[in-house]
Amino acid sequence: MRILVINSGSSSLKFQVIDSETEEVLAKGLCERIGIDGVFTYKTGNGVSIKEQIPMKTHTEAVHTLLDMLVDKEKGIAKDYSDIDVIGHRLVHGGEKFTGSVVITDQVIDAMTECNDLAPLHNPANIIGVNACRKLMPHTLMVGVFDTAFNQTMEPKAFLYGLPYRYYEKYKIRRYGFHGISHKYVSQRAAEFLGQNPKRVKTIVCHLGNGASISAVKYGQVIDNSMGFTPLEGLVMGTRCGDVDPGALEFLAKKENLDFSQIMQILNQESGVLGISKNFSSDFRELKDAEIKYNEKAGLAREIFSYKVAKYVGSYAAAMNGVDNIVFTAGIGENDSDIRQEICDYLEFLGITIDEVKNRDQAEAVKISTGSSKVNVLVIKTNEELEIAREAAAVAKQQKISCSDENT
Ligand code: AMP
Repeated sequence: MRILVINSGSSSLKFQVIDSETEEVLAKGLCERIGIDGVFTYKTGNGVSIKEQIPMKTHTEAVHTLLDMLVDKEKGIAKDYSDIDVIGHRLVHGGEKFTGSVVITDQVIDAMTECNDLAPLHNPANIIGVNACRKLMPHTLMVGVFDTAFNQTMEPKAFLYGLPYRYYEKYKIRRYGFHGISHKYVSQRAAEFLGQNPKRVKTIVCHLGNGASISAVKYGQVIDNSMGFTPLEGLVMGTRCGDVDPGALEFLAKKENLDFSQIMQILNQESGVLGISKNFSSDFRELKDAEIKYNEKAGLAREIFSYKVAKYVGSYAAAMNGVDNIVFTAGIGENDSDIRQEICDYLEFLGITIDEVKNRDQAEAVKISTGSSKVNVLVIKTNEELEIAREAAAVAKQQKISCSDENT
């Protein structure tokens, strides 16, 4: 099956076409600056590479642009629209309603719209992308793959906050956890790489990117995730604060005469390693270069980041009563060997030792712990698009089976 994977944001739309049998990427690209001026980037597996300005006033125009390119006689990878069997959409927040991937119907869109409050930056943009595709390809099967779904196996002891229970009942205020698509892909790839049965191992996945989260995956199911009701909780991130005492926020609001939206702006956009480094940078490469040149705050930002990751890993090892695999992924996790080493230095008590040479290996999947290490430590490149394509193909197959059952 040819799966078109769509990840729609408020002003951009990423896409890939993946052959679900060979898992080959046939084409990929990005529609940026939708509603502004429009920049279209496109590459295929057989060497076509394009970056040009194409006006895209709306998401529907963006989807039109990418579909036109996919069926273009010279640069395309499909004869016509019917060559695309399924569209898999990345959907950020499914609340408690969605515990797995689903065929997108009007009811699903209604249910997602009800979750808009929970992810006001992401869900409406996702829905716009879905509707644009439905408009142009009304007969193509659409599958929704939720970032929150893999985390829905958490038990109440992990997902409930210490708030009055009525707020959970009334508003569903609880931990949802995010980056589920990546956590699922990476935890399963780690088990596959090590020749393990994922249902028999305890894995901690450290998804360390601009947004960063950690999950505890016990016997194939998430039991905890560092992100919370929103993707603000947990680790110190690029510009997000992570865990912070709410009492400090009231204090700050009073001192600086700020309202809630101003406080949220500070927590989401002005904090994290950017804020700690006194606005030097949210990019770990720049922080590292600055640290080498004795920029104290840049060094401190990286130090706080690693310390916090190590604390979460330690607590998740306790939550699972042990850990077999620790996996680093995403921009920082995949590329910053110094941060990995710093984090693992804290984890010596788990019997972890790192092979310095392997820690600098750039392979798609690599075990960086030594043979004598009591826990496997790996670096695995995440592949959310492939996970979405796999989910979409599985749902499509299931759909075919139930349709044929109905007809017999
Ligand atoms: P992501 O959100 O997964 O795309 O990760 C983005 C972050 O990864 C950037 O903000 C950088 O801080 C970090 N990053 C990317 N490449 C490197 C690298 N080679 N070394 C250190 N950090 C990196």
